[in-house]
Amino acid sequence: MRKVEHIGIAVKSMSSANELFSKLFGKKAYKSEKVEREGVTTTFFQMGETKIELLEATTPDSPIAKFIEKKGEGIHHLAYEVDDITAEMARLEKEGFTLLNKEPQKGADNKLICFLHPKSTNGVLVELCQESKDGM
Ligand code: ZN
Repeated sequence: MRKVEHIGIAVKSMSSANELFSKLFGKKAYKSEKVEREGVTTTFFQMGETKIELLEATTPDSPIAKFIEKKGEGIHHLAYEVDDITAEMARLEKEGFTLLNKEPQKGADNKLICFLHPKSTNGVLVELCQESKDGM
């Protein structure tokens, strides 16, 4: 793994969170994107080499809605950049980590992603992400 690519924060209301984080960071989000399959709307702030991703549920049964129900708003996941997500998934599975996706998924921000179960990573939901190559 190369670096923390972004930190995901679950929010109840994107419009008020967007306003709050814009004030906090002193700059605007560079991108907002709906990921239908994951049931989320995402908003990204560039913070040097890393990013902050705000996540709002689009449906009541979205994983983000369930997360907020259980734990409240707050840090939802840490995303690490990898060069080859398929190879990294195979390596981590061999090491005994529980992958939540069998295949890389298409995530926000033009990424291929895979989540690891927080039970196998000390309670922290981990996302692997690889820059999506053209044609994928
Ligand atoms: Zn993420």
